[in-house]
Amino acid sequence: MQKTVKDYIRTIADFPHEGIMFRDVTTLFGDPRGFRIAIDQLLHPYAGVRFDKVVGLEARGFILGGAIAHQLSVGFVPIRKKGKLPGAVISQSYQLEYGEAVVELHDDAIQPGEKVLIVDDLLATGGTAEAGIKLVERLGGEIIGCAFVVDLPDLGGRKRLEGLGMDVHALCA
Ligand code: 5GP
Repeated sequence: MQKTVKDYIRTIADFPHEGIMFRDVTTLFGDPRGFRIAIDQLLHPYAGVRFDKVVGLEARGFILGGAIAHQLSVGFVPIRKKGKLPGAVISQSYQLEYGEAVVELHDDAIQPGEKVLIVDDLLATGGTAEAGIKLVERLGGEIIGCAFVVDLPDLGGRKRLEGLGMDVHALCA
């Protein structure tokens, strides 16, 4: 039997903290067949859909989003952690388990009405993706879908994004 996307992902115990089972997608990205089927499957539900921009969430969303944007022949836009983007930005804060984080988007990266696909490797609580959604919507982008390789449904991210009216696509749990 051929390997599925999930088979290429390894789980590393106690990273970055004790008690966390970290899904390591570098083994998926590092395999030529694994990476290709992941990109193909992320795009599968959007066959025939027109996008203007692919937005990737730092950092693994850049790797996936870059490949997807290339495949769709559209531009790629990064959402980065605070202080990393050189131009004028808009910022969005969100809650972490302990404390708060801020992500940013160049204020001219998306034009009003542009159709956007948001991409990241993994959906957990949905806090990161929600912050990204808010940034794109603040610039007037129309989010057509949010695509992830892994969805951890017990952490509630899918429900949270669907509650915002988002269409969520994930390849495995
Ligand atoms: P959330 O904001 O949904 O709670 O967490 C998702 C974000 O944290 C994503 O940007 C994702 O890259 C990262 N993340 C959280 N847990 C993991 C994990 O186990 N593996 C990987 N690869 N990323 C994770």
